[in-house]
Amino acid sequence: MNKLRILWLGFFGVFLMNTAQAQTYWQQAVNYEMEIDFDVTKHQFSGKQKLTYQNNSPDTLTKVFYHLYFNAFQPNSMMDVRSRTITDPDPRVGNRIYKLNEDEIGYQKIQSLTQDGKKVTYKTVGTILEVTLDKPILPRQKTVFKMEFEAQVPLQIRRSGRDNKEGISYSMTQWYPKLAEYDIEGWHANPYIGREFHGVWGDFDVKITIDKNYVIGGTGYLQNPNEIGHGYTKKTVEPKTKRLTWHFVAPKVHDFAWGADPDYQHDMVKTKEGIELHFFYQKDVADNWKKLPDVMIECFAIMNQKFGKYPYKQYSFIQGGDGGMEYPMATLITGGRNFQSLVSVAVHESIHSWFQGLLATNEAKYSWMDEGFTTYAQDLILDMLFDTKLPNPQYQNYRSYQVMIERNIEEPQTTHADHYERNTAYGISSYSKGAVFLHQLSYIIGQENLEKGMLRYFEEWKFKHPTARDFKRVMEKTSGLELDWYFEHWVETTNTIDYGIKTVTETDGKVTILLERIGRTPMPLDILVTQKDGSKKLYYIPLRIMRGEKPEENKIKRVTLTDWPWTFPEYELKLDESLKNIQSIQINPSERMADINPKNDRFPSLDTQFRFVETEEK
Ligand SMILES: [Zn+2]
Repeated sequence: MNKLRILWLGFFGVFLMNTAQAQTYWQQAVNYEMEIDFDVTKHQFSGKQKLTYQNNSPDTLTKVFYHLYFNAFQPNSMMDVRSRTITDPDPRVGNRIYKLNEDEIGYQKIQSLTQDGKKVTYKTVGTILEVTLDKPILPRQKTVFKMEFEAQVPLQIRRSGRDNKEGISYSMTQWYPKLAEYDIEGWHANPYIGREFHGVWGDFDVKITIDKNYVIGGTGYLQNPNEIGHGYTKKTVEPKTKRLTWHFVAPKVHDFAWGADPDYQHDMVKTKEGIELHFFYQKDVADNWKKLPDVMIECFAIMNQKFGKYPYKQYSFIQGGDGGMEYPMATLITGGRNFQSLVSVAVHESIHSWFQGLLATNEAKYSWMDEGFTTYAQDLILDMLFDTKLPNPQYQNYRSYQVMIERNIEEPQTTHADHYERNTAYGISSYSKGAVFLHQLSYIIGQENLEKGMLRYFEEWKFKHPTARDFKRVMEKTSGLELDWYFEHWVETTNTIDYGIKTVTETDGKVTILLERIGRTPMPLDILVTQKDGSKKLYYIPLRIMRGEKPEENKIKRVTLTDWPWTFPEYELKLDESLKNIQSIQINPSERMADINPKNDRFPSLDTQFRFVETEEK
């Protein structure tokens, strides 16, 4: 073997290795051990954190970053300025951060930081701690960081903080220095400006020492219930000391949150699957919160069946925060709501255990995958829980999407959550358009494929960080259809769908329907023809770039026509019947396609808005 050939083989070997690495999923791993000493008189705490970091990436790391979220709650922080200058400010924030006094602001101050026993250089830049490592972390190597820090809990403004408007003492979310995630897409050391999270998968061991009168609910399993009492055991234990140390362990999660209040009542029920559901709330909202467990048992049962089995043994509903926010094994929600609203938010946040808790998409980059999918499942489950049997449980989401189009404020779903021009555009794109994405996907690939695909997505991607591409591949493999075009139009652009019936004519006693594509986004078409005698026939035009057809979905006989090459603006559909027998012709009878102009979808045309009227087709 000559030298040149050896060199070539070497090159080829490196090339092969790189290709293999690019295709192999990896994720970083952490193990947090924290000891927290909490002073309820000053609203401050000191912490010791031991963080074991496993670099599973193919890269050598010379820096790491931590989030110091509490630093956002200081006048002139990036979050403060953003909240005061955004087009449509969040009323919960507005200029409230700007008005905080020294003893009301939040902070996380790092006192010391070592890597494998040696001091490292670090710098606090707003809500990010930039750390230059003492020695690089090589691929597949571990390193141990030890940190000491001091923190002050800010007045509750957004998500975390003390004394929320319902009088909950501590909503402890984004409360500890949290390592930023390094994943297939690189570092995500985004400054905190109020929205969305992404964390490293790992295990947490947290000890919180606090005044004995406070009750804590949070992520993780309590290790010393007998010592604690407070409803965690049947025995009522009167603590002998003035302070108690609560010891929690949370395996395989990517964050740890808790709430604490001296007035929490604490209930616990078990679901059919053996999951413990915990409820922490104050007396004045007890009427509604006492009714919540039965509903949530039902919610978990449906989710387990339809979207995959919840793998933890526990979940906690904790009164706190300023709305509702999801965390692993727990949620913080405000309690003073009517029952329907309480159920709605509790259902929404607990569903995040699937979409974000377990299928841990980077919320900032793929907010439509966690908020949208959660909203979709929420509306499906609320419809089942309240037995409303809506013809389209996603109706409100289609309406909101339509309103966003009418107001001309839409931004593509690929916009980073922090960078939307408007809060409203972020909200509708992520929640409503995200929910429509899934319901419309059921139209494209068929309801059965969607349901199978959701379960497969869960099985393949739980405890990981799936991206849009990963979700697309699962749905393609499940349906056998090519879906690039759908993601490209719906997710990456603000293109819209509008198909119409251009003309209906008759020659020699036979009808010709001329269909037209007006919107830029192509779609397959369902067309329902209803005869005057009441009989129905469903026509189906696949889109050529799908490279296939969805399976038949309902009892009405379907006629599959030649596929539609999307560049063709029109399509001629010839029926083997006479106009005099036809009652109506309707595009999109199941109304799952988000056609922005439904008025041209029907013949004879109706001036009234017929959208979302129940059709017998379903
Ligand atoms: Zn949500």
